[in-house]
Amino acid sequence: MEALNSYQADRIVEAVVSQLKAKLMVEVEASGRHVHLCRQDVETLFGKGYQLTEVRELSQPGQFVCAERVTISGPKGSLHNVVILGPERSETQAEISMTDSLALGIKPPVRLSGDIDNTPGFTITVGDKSIVKDKGVIIAKRHMHITPEDAERLNVKDREALSIKVFGSRPVVFQDTIARVSKDFRTYVHIDYDEANACGFTKGTFCRIIR
Ligand SMILES: [Zn+2]
Repeated sequence: MEALNSYQADRIVEAVVSQLKAKLMVEVEASGRHVHLCRQDVETLFGKGYQLTEVRELSQPGQFVCAERVTISGPKGSLHNVVILGPERSETQAEISMTDSLALGIKPPVRLSGDIDNTPGFTITVGDKSIVKDKGVIIAKRHMHITPEDAERLNVKDREALSIKVFGSRPVVFQDTIARVSKDFRTYVHIDYDEANACGFTKGTFCRIIR
């Protein structure tokens, strides 16, 4: 067999590493602050019958980024140009980082998306239209979307709290990362921007489940 040159050897190593990553690790995505809106609030802010404009699909099937932006406000300040994620939900909510919550002057709990009972309210504004919500702000709890096949392979149960080591430029172990198993998901870990900055996240960062 002819000796490999250094270029060929590098390509082989890269291929093996990427296959091992896919088998042993899970890709991480960082979710920025965003809102989900109910039908009624879309109509109040944008007009009767208005349909939000999809501009980009997210990794989870059926979820998308909208072209429209909103301002969200609390007693201490506002965050402008906040992205709306579709599709519409049954209840309006805002998912922000802890740093954002300091800017707004509110103290939201850390929750999984959709779990908004007993959470602080906020104001949503688009142009001259505003809605005062009496609840709906959360700090998104980090979580792993995982398919049943990957869950079986990685020995993960639905709702299990996992410890994950995220291999950013300054690796961090995040405990209490909640697994959510569904055939409607694609396998990704979601962290917020505070967590992303803490671990030196860049696109293409992977993590490993440690037990
Ligand atoms: Zn998610």
